[in-house]
Amino acid sequence: MDHSQAILPTRSLGKTGLMVTILGFGGIPIQLVSEEQAIATVRRAHELGVTFFDTARAYTNSEERIGKALEGRKYIVATKTGARDAEGAYADVLRSLENLRREQIDLYQVHGVNDDGELERVLSAGGALEGLRRAHQEKKIAHIGITGHRRETLIKAVQICAEFETVQVPFNVVEDDIIDTLLAECSRRNIGTIAMKPVGGGNFSNAPLAVKWCLNQPITTAIPGMASPTEVEEDVAVGVGDIQLTPVEREQCEQMKEELGPRICRRCGYCQPCPNGVNIFLLLNGTGIIRRMGVERYREWGAEQAIAGAENCQECEICVGKCPYNLPIPELIREALAYYKTVPGLK
Ligand code: SF4
Ligand code: SF4
Repeated sequence: MDHSQAILPTRSLGKTGLMVTILGFGGIPIQLVSEEQAIATVRRAHELGVTFFDTARAYTNSEERIGKALEGRKYIVATKTGARDAEGAYADVLRSLENLRREQIDLYQVHGVNDDGELERVLSAGGALEGLRRAHQEKKIAHIGITGHRRETLIKAVQICAEFETVQVPFNVVEDDIIDTLLAECSRRNIGTIAMKPVGGGNFSNAPLAVKWCLNQPITTAIPGMASPTEVEEDVAVGVGDIQLTPVEREQCEQMKEELGPRICRRCGYCQPCPNGVNIFLLLNGTGIIRRMGVERYREWGAEQAIAGAENCQECEICVGKCPYNLPIPELIREALAYYKTVPGLK
């Protein structure tokens, strides 16, 4: 495709005022390819007009690779800290600045705030927000955001803390039930919305259509992960085209939702804790974690204990009753265990 004439539209990232391309760059997959390929991928995105690059301290070398690829170029960068205390969050900012080769980071997000307890820790005295506030006062970061999987916690976060200027959340053709709740609340408060996993972490058969669906929704930007220049070109082709869905495409999206919806874990955590200590979250999401981040990362997160602990599942279905999507959790656990047996390096 000739991209020379096509320009990616931009939208304002809420009250940050940053103008970002509707298609951003998700920085998870570049940690799994060679450095040469990672840099070529990031540069191709920049050449084709992508201005918003998202990464995280947790994505191993992703920050360093983006920093190296785009040193001296103009772009907007967002990264994240998993720390929950002020000292840890501030130290992460310093590390990110070094990795990204920047004097200031445009957006620094508190990563993966998935329940109200976590939110309380972040906001409490000595919590992560305090560290980010300090970095903001010192102009090391320009804006503060939050990321997570649970809409109620994110709604609460933006309602009680005006310092969060953006929200990043999974949002795609299957995980679409935040439009009237979280997205509406963000819109009322002029908070920028960043859609992660627009192609369901690689689960959707028609990725370009899934990206198109997402760009057509009330979000600021969608950030599919990209691992090669070819993937960048495919995603940019969607972003520079007509993003209105045709009736046929709407129908195809509905089909995708019907096929996958009853099987995909939204990582909301409502099913937990299991009375028998089964780590449902890790067991149900390992396939995506391995695909996006590699088996080593899955092991670091405690995959082997989770797999061993799956033996304790009594198939009582208490978790099914708590899952808002009525997922057949014991069956999905069995399927996941069968898959893990085939993964080299996983016991
Ligand atoms: S079905 Fe298994 S995983 Fe779910 S609550 Fe019961 S024991 Fe736990
Ligand atoms: S199984 Fe259901 S309740 Fe549990 S994390 Fe997944 S979507 Fe949420």
